[in-house]
Amino acid sequence: MKNPERSGARKTEGKGHVKAQGKAINRTSGPAWPLLKRLAHYVKSHLGLFAITVSAAALAAIFELLPPFLIRAAIDRCVLGDEGNFIWLWAAGLLAVSLLQGGVDFLRLYLTALLGQKIVFRIRNDLFTHLNRLSFSFFDRARTGDLMSRVTSDTDVLSMFFGRAGIIVLTNALFLIGVMVVLFSWNWILGLVYAAMLPVIVVAIRIYARKVRPAMGRVRKTLGLLGSTLQGTLAGIMVVKVFGRDKYEEKRFDRSSSKNLSAGVEAAKIQSLWMPFMNVFMGIGTGLILWVGGYGVIRGGISLGTLIAFITYISMLLRPVRQTGMMMNVVMRSMAASERIFEVLDTIPEIADSPGALPLPPIQGIVKFDNVSFSYDGNNPVLIDVSLKALPGELVAVVGPSGAGKSTLVHLIPRFYNAERGSLTLDGNDVREVTLDSLRRNVGIALQSVFLFDTSIRENIAYGSPGVSDREIERVARTAQIHDFIHSLPMGYGTPVGERGVRLSGGQRQRIALARVLLHDPRVLILDEPTSSVDAATERKLRDAFEVARKERTTFVIAHRLGTVRHADRIIVLKNGRVEELGLPEAGKTAHEMLMVAGGLYSTLYSLQFTEAVEP
Ligand code: ATP
Repeated sequence: MKNPERSGARKTEGKGHVKAQGKAINRTSGPAWPLLKRLAHYVKSHLGLFAITVSAAALAAIFELLPPFLIRAAIDRCVLGDEGNFIWLWAAGLLAVSLLQGGVDFLRLYLTALLGQKIVFRIRNDLFTHLNRLSFSFFDRARTGDLMSRVTSDTDVLSMFFGRAGIIVLTNALFLIGVMVVLFSWNWILGLVYAAMLPVIVVAIRIYARKVRPAMGRVRKTLGLLGSTLQGTLAGIMVVKVFGRDKYEEKRFDRSSSKNLSAGVEAAKIQSLWMPFMNVFMGIGTGLILWVGGYGVIRGGISLGTLIAFITYISMLLRPVRQTGMMMNVVMRSMAASERIFEVLDTIPEIADSPGALPLPPIQGIVKFDNVSFSYDGNNPVLIDVSLKALPGELVAVVGPSGAGKSTLVHLIPRFYNAERGSLTLDGNDVREVTLDSLRRNVGIALQSVFLFDTSIRENIAYGSPGVSDREIERVARTAQIHDFIHSLPMGYGTPVGERGVRLSGGQRQRIALARVLLHDPRVLILDEPTSSVDAATERKLRDAFEVARKERTTFVIAHRLGTVRHADRIIVLKNGRVEELGLPEAGKTAHEMLMVAGGLYSTLYSLQFTEAVEP
């Protein structure tokens, strides 16, 4: 694949590498350590909060260990011993421990949630910032719904991980170790019985994790696909309605949803095994302790208080073990989610500043293509050996049949894609060797498909030029022949345009987009079909406005209606990615006239359009 955006440069897993460019994840069960290590990296920036949280967790584990201690002492000293009058003291002690435990637990849970929220805020912002840096080729392949689910729901899973699971697993681990220390100090035989249970629990958790993680990965993946299906249908709801494809879309959604259902059911099956297994296992453990400990009490080696405290500890294990099982689900879901998140974060933008790139110095706007070739997929050339030059103040028309490569050609100027071969320069500066930021400040483009944000007309026009005055906005709106319309609206420039500008007509959207690029005031102005959605009268006015606007810059115009570019200074005729003809003014004749005289593709296309135009 040609210059693909690559993934995984920072990855440490090596084998089973995930492919980038928005493809679905194929691997959902790689080693967890590298992922955990990378997640831990995010904790580093909140080390203080993390340390307090871990201390609260350790304190919570200690408080949890105390009740059996008190019970043991109460039984041995008060119930069986001669301190019966003081039993209330132990009961009061238990109450005090519970109150303190409640306070510490609140602190632990609150701090953990705070830490989780802070970390996920960082990860989500990093993800969004990185997505913004990725280039067109990534978005050509990625699915919007899937990306949205990575930024929202996958990061949400991580907030569960950092905000609950991580610390609960830690507290429980501390508790299990604490119980072991206490039990061994009381009675090593019973301690051994307990210690023998731990490896089984650890092995069981490992087996469980190994099974549940891929299942969770499938759940996340199918959820991403479901998001894409939904996003596609909602974005194309007009087409769905026009063609009456509601039922078809329902079936499609149902299919995606069913995949998610099967993945969810499969995961639930594995999850449901955990508790019954652990209940049986804990039952066996308690029985063993009762057996060995009971003999101990009968023979006199162990006090009754110790045995009861022991059994209390064993029954107390049930909660952390059950919780650990549940939290392992969250941990595994988090591993699957973080794999998807890191896949995006590891994708290296294909289009980025080259090392040592300098800002583009002030330019006049001389655009030069030298034998430029390009293909989207590395196999099918879309532009072949294109050479052309455009000078400041010139209006350069790019024409040719549909699919000839016109949009692709102009998209190379602001470096939406990199040319595969040849060079492209602005005033002699190779576009690859200057910073993207400075390049795009000098090259303005009004895209073929207009996109407006769901905000006011004013903000849409000012989008690329924050901080400009209302007067400037009005000036470009006048140039774009849209001021009178905006002025006639009750809310004027403050009128909201709706999602994707749905509350405006196609022509109004197009002119707002034009005003937006004019406000950007670029040296090189690219207009992809700028008048395709406006009426003939507006088109004439726009053309006059362009005449004024283009004087200070180099303007490229892509046009299908050749009548609109008759007055262009240069006309580039593309066919199958090659420059088929190049029209230049000569001997008092315009570029258009020269091409008409030449009698090639341009004159054929022009005559065809003209004939069509006059036909009844
Ligand atoms: P039109 O006049 O219909 O807008 P055009 O001359 O502007 O067409 P381009 O949009 O440049 O043509 O497309 C040229 C070729 O490149 C087409 O065959 C098209 O299928 C292909 N193409 C365009 N964009 C992409 C993309 N993002 N990924 C892969 N192929 C693409």
